[in-house]
Amino acid sequence: MKDKIFVTRPWLPPLNEILPYLENIWNSRVLTNEGRYLKELETNLAKYLQAKHVSLLNNGTIALLIALQSLGLSGEVVTTPFSFVATTHCLSWLNLTPVFADIEPNSFNLDPAKVEAAITKRTSAILGVHCYGRPCDVVALADIAKAKNVKLIYDAAHAFGVKHQGRSVMLSGDLSAISFHATKVFNTFEGGAVVSHDDELYNRINLLKNFGIQDESTVADIGLNGKMNEFCAALGLVQLDHIGEAIVARRLHDDFYRQNLANIPNLICPPWPANVSPNYAYFPILVEPGFPLSRDGLYEKLTHHNIFVRRYFYPLISEFSMYHNLPSATEANLSVASSVSRRILCLPIYPDLSLAQAERVVGIIADSAGLTQWKSL
Ligand SMILES: *Cc1c(COP(=O)(O)O)cnc(C)c1O
Repeated sequence: MKDKIFVTRPWLPPLNEILPYLENIWNSRVLTNEGRYLKELETNLAKYLQAKHVSLLNNGTIALLIALQSLGLSGEVVTTPFSFVATTHCLSWLNLTPVFADIEPNSFNLDPAKVEAAITKRTSAILGVHCYGRPCDVVALADIAKAKNVKLIYDAAHAFGVKHQGRSVMLSGDLSAISFHATKVFNTFEGGAVVSHDDELYNRINLLKNFGIQDESTVADIGLNGKMNEFCAALGLVQLDHIGEAIVARRLHDDFYRQNLANIPNLICPPWPANVSPNYAYFPILVEPGFPLSRDGLYEKLTHHNIFVRRYFYPLISEFSMYHNLPSATEANLSVASSVSRRILCLPIYPDLSLAQAERVVGIIADSAGLTQWKSL
């Protein structure tokens, strides 16, 4: 049996590059709480992401939770069902009611017209996701948020390093939350961040991630422990030195898949939109009805060959038991998301995927399409 290929594999720097940082952590005994590496990483990330403020957190879910909490929301939040379940769970943790709006068929992101239609008197915010690192229609969503006087937050877990017309996608909306989980484009083992542009919000986020403690004798809010530790921050500093090469390596695989899958009938490789500098975080394909195998058939076949592709995102968040009774969770309301969710498959993509491995993936897909000579396509 051939070796296992997963949909993603954590990217790590050479081990020797982290050792001097560890030595300093050991000697200083500063392990967490506003340490030297945390501050350095916040500064360097702000530069890389063109952001005013970056607050580091212990994971992406807590980053999103604290971002939402910092805005003092209530009532309903309009959001996408086509995401990782943490997106909606964060609303539930804050006793906010998720209202699902449908997505666009090409970007897989919230459809601004559907968002606008879903807004009521009870709506306090829009929570978008830059799915697969493809930016939401940030201009249209900002216009709606302004006109309806609601907040706009992005779950930017997939969008690290993505630019739209030369501008970091993290600059959109009131706040963006990022994940640095092991599987993401930029990882600190576990970690996350909130990008903010407003000093008051930035201070509130920093308060909330440290139990709400204002000073020795004042607790100003019901915060939690969202702090990133010095080990993760040091790892982030070393990772940031290598992010350019990691994204270039991803791009080569993206190019390879595109070139070799482009001519397969009834298989769509959604292109990156114009004016976007991508991070090549995911490689989604759509298995259309005319393809010889169903989406699940292709999934099973690849899995059988030790290629562990993923059906991101199937089921939809709105189909999980804690959400499926919401009025907005019906298939009629979410017809595009439901359709995409049944056709989507994400192929393995990560910096140290080998060409031979990518060829195995393409070979099996081409074979499923009845093409035995895929290399000459
Ligand atoms: C990974 C991810 C999260 C959660 O981030 P963690 O760092 O794992 O907590 C949230 N939303 C989306 C869209 C994600 O992909």
